[in-house]
Amino acid sequence: MSYSKDTVSQVLNEFNSKRKRNEEERDERLVNVYAKIPELKSIDRALSLTGLQILGASLEGKDGLEERINKIKEENKALNEKRNALLLENGFSTDYTDMKFECDECKDQGYINGIMCQCLKRALITKQLESSGVGELILTQSFDNFSLDFYQGEDKKIMSDLVEDLRTYASEFPEKKANLLFVGGTGLGKTHLSTAIAKSLIEKGQSVIYETATNVFADFENDRFRDRYNGEEPISSKYMECDLLILDDLGTEVITNFTVSCLYNLINTRLNKKLPIILSTNLYSKEIRKLYNDRITSRLFGDFEIKLFKGTDIRKLK
Ligand SMILES: [Zn+2]
Repeated sequence: MSYSKDTVSQVLNEFNSKRKRNEEERDERLVNVYAKIPELKSIDRALSLTGLQILGASLEGKDGLEERINKIKEENKALNEKRNALLLENGFSTDYTDMKFECDECKDQGYINGIMCQCLKRALITKQLESSGVGELILTQSFDNFSLDFYQGEDKKIMSDLVEDLRTYASEFPEKKANLLFVGGTGLGKTHLSTAIAKSLIEKGQSVIYETATNVFADFENDRFRDRYNGEEPISSKYMECDLLILDDLGTEVITNFTVSCLYNLINTRLNKKLPIILSTNLYSKEIRKLYNDRITSRLFGDFEIKLFKGTDIRKLK
């Protein structure tokens, strides 16, 4: 499991405020209940001293210790019974003043004996989905609802194989990793299948960023002009660190020396760190070679598996 620092700290902060809120709400209920049943306050005070009483009893020596402790326990039990009865008489449930947790397993701590609770895992996944850049698409686009109805003849066979191929890619990640280059015109399902991969990886706890080339290079550009000495991490560092980067619409960005060197740096850094990239483009190899320098094209055609998307623009057919 590898979530970005941002994701983890945001979720842990949310857990912190959840615990604070739990306490505040419990305190409010206590105020409410004490106002209606003043006697309960003295019972609670007495109950809160139980620990001290037991400590005191044990300091008195071993002789008759068990008896003394049993006596305290009896008194404690009686107080609790009294307390419950008073609550019920006044129309409250017996657990009215207990802490209420969203997760009873870990009591909203996020960990049980140092092991991450399911609720924290789910929260991390949800946060990761929100920050992946896939947004709403993730709700509707998956492998299961990718329709081959709009493909015909040989295209249908190619696309059906491709879907299975990418499904395997997603299921084997991160044990098996590869860089992919999605090539094909618009409306052939590149976005849908990219989203499907992002979704299944995020659900496995991998960090995925899905962003257009234009936006990624804009972030690099912003970093260039930001004050580097303010101690903040560059915005673009997330693109270097996530488990999978899906860079969409390569070739639609305004291509400058700067974006070309960013692209090379991005590909190179990630490849060195063994962090895969899925690049998606409408350009075919001739155009790629024309737009990008040899250093980039040799990386693209040497280190990426090329996946050709076939068919007629689905959006037009629909
Ligand atoms: Zn939990």
